[in-house]
Amino acid sequence: MTVELKHIRAARERIAGKVERTATVLSQSLSDRTGGPVYLKLEHHQTTGAFKLRGASNAIAALSADEKSRGVVAASTGNHGRALAHAAKLEGIRAVICMSKLVSENKLDAIRRLGADVRIVGNSQDDAQQEVDRLVAEEGLVMLPPFDHPDIIAGQGTLGLEIMEQVPDAAAVLVPLSGGGLAAGVAAAIKGVSPNTKVIGISMARGAAMKASLDAGRPVQVEELPTLADSLGGGIGLDNQLTFAMCRDLLDDVVLLAEDEIAAGIRHAYGQEREIVEGAGAVGIGALLAGKPSTNGPTVLILSGRNIDMALHRRIVCGEAATATERVA
Ligand SMILES: *Cc1c(COP(=O)(O)O)cnc(C)c1O
Repeated sequence: MTVELKHIRAARERIAGKVERTATVLSQSLSDRTGGPVYLKLEHHQTTGAFKLRGASNAIAALSADEKSRGVVAASTGNHGRALAHAAKLEGIRAVICMSKLVSENKLDAIRRLGADVRIVGNSQDDAQQEVDRLVAEEGLVMLPPFDHPDIIAGQGTLGLEIMEQVPDAAAVLVPLSGGGLAAGVAAAIKGVSPNTKVIGISMARGAAMKASLDAGRPVQVEELPTLADSLGGGIGLDNQLTFAMCRDLLDDVVLLAEDEIAAGIRHAYGQEREIVEGAGAVGIGALLAGKPSTNGPTVLILSGRNIDMALHRRIVCGEAATATERVA
């Protein structure tokens, strides 16, 4: 089973009016630096501050009446939980969000404010997932995972359809990569419309689970470490059903960034583009600034989210912090 262009087109119909069609703009500063036109897909302006509302809205819209009456549950490092809480509230259904202690306060508060029931469990995404499994088994809630689910992937893929309409001659699209729901959906959409457009995943070097798994040829576990790209933290699941195979088959390359390269991306977004992005949303800019990968022709970067702790953001743009652990200094 996989997610194809037709599923992504169906998702687009389903979520029309529930999510924003975000703008794609030319970045003069990055175009000047790289020699080719560079475009920014401003998905951090999406409602809830990240693209995750696309997948969450599609998955909730696809539930049966019985499933809606039981409510939904997910493990989330923040943005998926926030998106699910928002989409569930619109539909008037119950949402329970489980997350690890690594999640920042600002993300947690935002989810609570949306009326979801928040449970903090353990030190990793995997610990949070165990609580999800318990709620599914004991309370009958419907699990909507952050990435490894066909309706989530199809919803995220709608971003790829918009990119190809906004930049039809895109030669390469740089996609932030964690569990791979975004990369799988966007790559399926883009390869479906424009097979020669390259789709490149970008992760942080600290705890890049998908990259380690692709290298190993099967899903593997990696240690979850603090990173400025906190939305990219967490494993891909050892029993991964969809995103591992899709990323293996559809991505042209995966690039890893050091923490100071992510910080440089955040700083550039703010200083040159007047955009506030979180670490995960800045990895495309960070990759181009670091000269990896070298691109040829029109390049699109997805700014995937903006939900960063503003005290940390201030320290980064002032050049005071270049790693996630410096936030407590
Ligand atoms: C979730 C998230 C990602 C990564 O998406 P995956 O589908 O897990 O690969 C990237 N950026 C932001 C802002 C996110 O919230």
